[in-house]
Amino acid sequence: MNLTLTTEVKYIKGVGPQRAAVLEERGVFTVEDLLHYLPFRYEDRVHFTPIRQLQVGGTYTVRAKFEQGQLMRYGRGFYSKRDAMYFLTVRDATGVLYCRFFHGGYLEGRLKAGQELVLHGKVEMDPNRPVRKEMVNPQFEVLATDSTADSTEVGRIVPIYEAIGKVSSRMIRRILFAALSNLQTELRDLLPADVLARHGFPTRTQAIRAVHFPEAPASLDELNTFRTPAHRRLIFEEFFFYQLGMALRRREAAQQPGIAFHARDDRVRDALKRILPFKPTAAQKRVLAEIVADMEKPVPMNRLLQGDVGSGKTIVALEAAVVAIENGRQVALMAPTEILAVQHYLYARRILGRAGYAVELLISGLKPSEKKKARARIASGEARLVVGTHALIEEAVEFARLGLVVVDEQHRFGVLQRKRLIEKGAPGEGDFQPDVLVMTATPIPRTLSLTLYADLDLSVIDEMPPGRTPIETRWTTDDRLPGVWEFVRRELQQGRQAYVVYPVIEESKAELKAATAEYEKLSQREFSKHRVGLLHGRMKSEEKEGVMERFRRGELQVLVSTTVIEVGVDVPNATVMVVEHAERFGLAQLHQLRGRIGRGAAKSSCVLITPPKITDDARERLETLVATTDGFRIAETDLRLRGPGEFFGTRQHGELGFHIANPLRDHELLDIARKEAFALAENRARDADLRRILDQLGPQWQRRFALATVG
Ligand code: ADP
Ligand code: MG
Repeated sequence: MNLTLTTEVKYIKGVGPQRAAVLEERGVFTVEDLLHYLPFRYEDRVHFTPIRQLQVGGTYTVRAKFEQGQLMRYGRGFYSKRDAMYFLTVRDATGVLYCRFFHGGYLEGRLKAGQELVLHGKVEMDPNRPVRKEMVNPQFEVLATDSTADSTEVGRIVPIYEAIGKVSSRMIRRILFAALSNLQTELRDLLPADVLARHGFPTRTQAIRAVHFPEAPASLDELNTFRTPAHRRLIFEEFFFYQLGMALRRREAAQQPGIAFHARDDRVRDALKRILPFKPTAAQKRVLAEIVADMEKPVPMNRLLQGDVGSGKTIVALEAAVVAIENGRQVALMAPTEILAVQHYLYARRILGRAGYAVELLISGLKPSEKKKARARIASGEARLVVGTHALIEEAVEFARLGLVVVDEQHRFGVLQRKRLIEKGAPGEGDFQPDVLVMTATPIPRTLSLTLYADLDLSVIDEMPPGRTPIETRWTTDDRLPGVWEFVRRELQQGRQAYVVYPVIEESKAELKAATAEYEKLSQREFSKHRVGLLHGRMKSEEKEGVMERFRRGELQVLVSTTVIEVGVDVPNATVMVVEHAERFGLAQLHQLRGRIGRGAAKSSCVLITPPKITDDARERLETLVATTDGFRIAETDLRLRGPGEFFGTRQHGELGFHIANPLRDHELLDIARKEAFALAENRARDADLRRILDQLGPQWQRRFALATVG
């Protein structure tokens, strides 16, 4: 059957209604959707490695026949069948290979004598029999016995896909092969022809075909690092549209009438003086000057304020708020969590209260009646600074005279959410757009932030407030816990407070210590003479706030918590951070957690606790934390260990709308894409091109990159 891009997947050979239903659940409805489901790696199935040549430590692809398989349960049925170990033996002309599968219950009886398998994995030495090489949990495929094997399974470099539900990688490959073989139409190419030519990129159709079924002479290495011309083109394309969105937003913003705040009169100066609780650092003064200069201009500010954990971004934001408020405007401050919103609210009320401004809190945890009252005070203009979470962007919230929007911890909010808050700018005030200040602690290199946040101007706080004693970080194993608790008790005796962090809320099969259970134990045993509180994400807002408030006031001495305290929480008297199962946390996350202490003059200590046996990667993460508190150095190590792919975390990645592009790995393409996109957007003579691109770009892409329209 001839296929077009809009043909439903169920009409592709080998799909049928059942598989189609599974694919549709994942958003794959049409042939075009399917073509954009890309492989994550490739295997060379032309040159298999003979079993005899396998070396310990290497990763190989082997073609061999099933010999036998056996399920082993340990501890007299203690483990369920699902969790049992499956032992597999395969053989080729040169020898025998042993494989082990953890949780291999599903494999029992599935493989049959004589079947041909392709196995891919790292070769290790069997720890119990140190002469025997084995693969642990290799990826494998059973080769088809019919002729389809020839075209899609062996004799070429094959793409490996992430399975979609019960639809395996092998099946996806087959389906894609059938789709591409029967596809009559070309894919629309929205990259301008001159851009394609300048960088020698293949067309979209060529690129999609080559990414799924690479033709010789594609190199396996280039494929697996996404460096082939086809990959580069697809990566470029994502960056290009992303940057085009940035460029258009900038272009649009520059045309909007903004508010020209007056910042240089005595009233503003006096107010600033009145609120400042300490002497700002040189860096804080510099970034405030940059922000104020923007605010004075009659175009809207769009600025990113970057500064490591604890560098003192909040007070800068409050100073900017004072400028706006003294100009008769309202300010919105949006935080990613309720805990953080409440903390900002309390801090702002304390600081801004000195100048007599009304500060309002708006979070979903409020009672409906309170919420209604808050909304009324926001709509009347009585509330001068409004602090909140997502609740701020709900439809019903109307500002009387919004002049400045501050978004804290930007990496948790998408561009779209930011936009929705901005759109709450004063409706009755003509078309004045509020100024926008985005704050982030994500320590990424300056060049990269300039590119990723190309729609924003950048200010960096590169200096810590004075009088901080460096945090001492130790890493120890859990058999030393009694000593750790003894140390914590001594700190408490001195009037200090401590955090104890666990990876999960409740106990699960994963055998991880959980916050709730450990809270019970700690408060009854180790800290029976102290006041201990529990905090986690599943508690009700009021409960959370009650606990936080008591900890802030010093009524609670120990706070047992999950990572809900990861961002922003500021209690300067807390000087101890104990993290159990530290091996389970990412480097950036541990850096953020540690940022909760060392906020006052007293010496602070971070104790990272792990079981005795941890992976090499975990070891390096912990050693890095012990060695440095410098966010940029930590970010670099993080990058190296995790590979750039995961640096931003999937959430951030998805937010940016990238499927295949990776800003760190592909920064050089990102740079080119930025130049091309900005050149196109800034050249009015090319508006027709621009309009054509935007008109043809499907709504999905438009949403992904928050592409504005051409004005
Ligand atoms: P972050 O940049 O991580 O949001 P905060 O704004 O929470 O950091 O500031 C961290 C702590 O440092 C707060 O307790 C704050 O009051 C304090 N602080 C900020 N700036 C200064 C300064 N110039 N001098 C003394 N303390 C400061
Ligand atoms: Mg902060």
